Amino acid sequence: MDSRLEGIRDTVLARNPGEKEFHQAVIEVFESLGPVHDRHPEFLEGAVLERLCEPERQIIFRVPWTDDAGRVHVNRGFRVEFNSALGPYKGGLRFHPSVYLGIVKFLGFEQIFKNALTGMPIGGGKGGSDFDPRGRSDAEIMRFCQSFMTELYRHIGEYTDVPAGDIGVGGREIGYLFGQYKRITNRYESGVLTGKGISWGGSLVRPEATGYGTVIFAQEMLKTRGQSFDGQRVVVSGSGNVAIHAIAKAQSLGATVVACSDSAGYVVDEAGIDVELLRHIKEVERGRLTEYAARRGGATHVTGGSVWDVNGTVALPCATQNELDGDAAAKLVSNGLIAVAEGANMPSTREAVSVFHEAGILFGPGKAANAGGVATSALEMQQNASRDSWSFEHTEQRLTEIMVGIHDRCAATADEYGAPGNYVVGANIGGFVKVADAMLAQGLI
Ligand code: GLU
Repeated sequence: MDSRLEGIRDTVLARNPGEKEFHQAVIEVFESLGPVHDRHPEFLEGAVLERLCEPERQIIFRVPWTDDAGRVHVNRGFRVEFNSALGPYKGGLRFHPSVYLGIVKFLGFEQIFKNALTGMPIGGGKGGSDFDPRGRSDAEIMRFCQSFMTELYRHIGEYTDVPAGDIGVGGREIGYLFGQYKRITNRYESGVLTGKGISWGGSLVRPEATGYGTVIFAQEMLKTRGQSFDGQRVVVSGSGNVAIHAIAKAQSLGATVVACSDSAGYVVDEAGIDVELLRHIKEVERGRLTEYAARRGGATHVTGGSVWDVNGTVALPCATQNELDGDAAAKLVSNGLIAVAEGANMPSTREAVSVFHEAGILFGPGKAANAGGVATSALEMQQNASRDSWSFEHTEQRLTEIMVGIHDRCAATADEYGAPGNYVVGANIGGFVKVADAMLAQGLI
């Protein structure tokens, strides 16, 4: 790391003790930014990095709710409004027992750069709760969402902060959240949340966007080496919204996706994952992958273990942070891997990223490769603002243009800063310069 940035890093780490995922995200960005500060001394003079690492506002609140038996539970809610240089805070809500301030801050920090890379007018934020939706009835989910929004509503708005989904928050939750916001404010403010249902202000392609976008980004990387998805053997982690649509898109481009996973294990299906069956089990039945293996002839379920033990030429980590470590990366490389694109946020550890770079693997970091989701959220905001709704084809075309644009900007920035083919450097510098310029232009705030 550039010695001028080490002191700033040390202050950030000391000021945010115990937030290890946030530290990881900050260090990974700082490692790319030395050369930018050679060219732009004004960023150091204006303390841009110090300001960027301190969220503009952090909100932590109590979320009390009752289960179906009438028992009272208390969870913790978060919204970190990280940076509004480019637009209203924008980023999802995650409901998962692992959520604490350090997770929300790593996600919010990444979101600043990701959103900048999309070229859309959106700042960075993130929120969520340590609430565990697993096994909860629809009525319990609704009561939790209503309680969560009863505090959150005062902090958000179409020009202020626009939440959306993430792990544990999909169309059902956004519906309950939107309903409660409308009830409290007496405003049908469509642009306050994205990921809405299609009949009440949502955008076509939003559910598909993160997974599709990840595959489009990977395809652009493959093209730089004269390759494509056709004939690739793909391993995907996760089996949620991002994974399902990444699998569908990869297979539509001629790949065979041979494995995917959930928290209990993974399935191997040499014939290629049956996306409709997977979607039905995960989204309609809200079931487990063991069900998939039970119903799909030829598929096997492995309990525990790592999906990265399955050999493939392309890996798409679409589950969660730090799910792919250095050993898993080395195994994938020795099994013939050529490319990785991250559908999840920070799924590869720093050791894994080093292994990929040293082996000359094409590596698309999440803040670039999975930006299609939030980009399509910005398209949803655009449709809401003009009271319009676009066709699937038009919206998908916009998503494709945005992803190709992100790829090309990352590649060009990496070239410009002497790191050809390094999409981590390209994404970090590309996102940072845009935000830093806007911050300086807006004065010391
Ligand atoms: N949670 C998604 C992400 O990590 C989407 C955020 C949004 O649509 O605002 O980018």
